[in-house]
Amino acid sequence: MKKAVKRKKLIYFDYNATTPVRPEVAGAMAPYLDPEAGLWGNPSSVHFPGQEARRAVEDARAGVARFLGASPEEIIFTSCGTESDTAAIKGAAFAAKERGKGGHIITSSIEHDCVLFCCEYLRTQGWDVTFLPVDSSGLVDPDEVKKAIRKDTVLVSVMHANNETGVIEPVAEIGRICREREVVFHSDGIQSAGKIPTRVSELNADLFSLSAHKLYGPKGVGVLYARKGTRLHPLFHGHHERGRRAGTENVAGIVGCAAACELAGKDMVRDAEKVAKLRDRLEEGILRSVPCVFRNGPKGGRIPGTSNLSFEYVEGEGCVMLLDLEGIAVSTGSACASGTTKASHVLRAMGVPGNLAQGALRFSLGHFNSGADVDAALEAVPRVAAKLRSMSPLWEDRTKGVETRITPPDRFLGLRPPRP
Ligand code: PLP
Repeated sequence: MKKAVKRKKLIYFDYNATTPVRPEVAGAMAPYLDPEAGLWGNPSSVHFPGQEARRAVEDARAGVARFLGASPEEIIFTSCGTESDTAAIKGAAFAAKERGKGGHIITSSIEHDCVLFCCEYLRTQGWDVTFLPVDSSGLVDPDEVKKAIRKDTVLVSVMHANNETGVIEPVAEIGRICREREVVFHSDGIQSAGKIPTRVSELNADLFSLSAHKLYGPKGVGVLYARKGTRLHPLFHGHHERGRRAGTENVAGIVGCAAACELAGKDMVRDAEKVAKLRDRLEEGILRSVPCVFRNGPKGGRIPGTSNLSFEYVEGEGCVMLLDLEGIAVSTGSACASGTTKASHVLRAMGVPGNLAQGALRFSLGHFNSGADVDAALEAVPRVAAKLRSMSPLWEDRTKGVETRITPPDRFLGLRPPRP
C-alpha cells in the first residue's frame, strides 16, 4: 500500500481542481469496500449481495435527486464531470439528429475544455457551433443567446460557474430563453454544486452536470441530471441506468457522491459565508501588499472561495512552483491546463492581455481552510512575487522608472464593456 507522503503542513488553495474526501463521506463508502460487510455485490445481480448494492445505488439516486430538486428517475450516474458534460452534449446532439432536427449548437467561449473540445469534435462531424463571447467580467449576455438561437438550434450549453474565475453565469435567464424557444439547455454545474444553490428547476436546466470530487466526494463519479422528457442518445450502450449509461455501477463511489451532496446541502450556507470571508481577506491582502496585481472578474457574483489574480511581470507557473516549495498549493487556472504555458482561454476571452493572463494565479478555498492558512499566504505571496520580479529585466526597468508596461490595465477591459 502506498504510504502517505510526508511534507510540511500543506496549505491547500486548489479546491476547484479537486477536494479531499470528507471523513463522513469516506465513512459512508467504507462498508461498500469492505469484503466482510457483504455489500460488494453487482447491483444487477438478483441474489442478496446484488440487491443490497442495488438498494444502496437507488438510495443514493434519491439523495442526489433531493439535493438537485429533481426526481430520482432524472438522475444518471456517470464516471466523472467530463463524461456528464459529454453525455449531455453529444447525447442531445445525436438525439436531435436522429429525429431529423437541425445541427446548430450554442456554447460560450469560457467553458471547460471538455465542453469546448466536445463541441469542436461535433463541428468536425458536421454540426455548426456558435461560441458566444463574454464581457470583461466573464459574463455571457442572455440577449446574445437569444440572438444566436436559430431554427436549427438543438442545444445551448452554458456553465453555471466558471472554474477559473468563479464567475456565476445568468443561467436561469438563459434557461428561460431556451425553454421559450424549445431548445434543450445544458449547464455544467461542476463548480457551482455544493457552493451555491443548484436546484435545477430554478435554473431552468434540462441537463445539469456535477462531479463528486469537486464537492468532497470521491473521484470517478459524476452525475447527469436529465429533465423528464429530454431526449438523449447514450454514449455507452446497454441496460444500466435505464439504458442511458451502460456499465456496472461504481457502488461505493455513488454512495460517496450522495453522502457528499447531503453534507453539501447541510453545510452550504455556513461554508459559503466562511469561505467567502477567507477569500476576500486573502484577495484584499494581496491586492494591498503586492503592486501591479489585478483581479480577473468582478468582486461580486462569484462562487465563494475563488479568486483569480494576475501578477504583472510574473509567470503564473513560476509562482505556483515557488509557493509549492513553501507548502502552498495554488494553480494557474484549470488543472488540465497546468503544466502548459498557454495563457488561459477564459482570461483571453475576457480580454485580459496576454502578459497578464500568463501571470494569473487561481486561489480556490474550501471547507478545510482556516484564517491561519490565509495569514501564511499573505506572508508568502508578496515574498514570492518579489523574488520572481527580482529576476525580471522588465520589472527592473519599471523600478527605474522606464515605461515597460506592454498593456496598461485600463485597456484590459476587454472586447465588450461589462453589462450594467
Ligand atoms: N467542468 C468544469 C467546470 C470543471 O471545473 C471540471 C474539472 O475541473 C470538469 C468539467 C471536469 O470534471 P471531471 O474532473 O470530474 O472530469
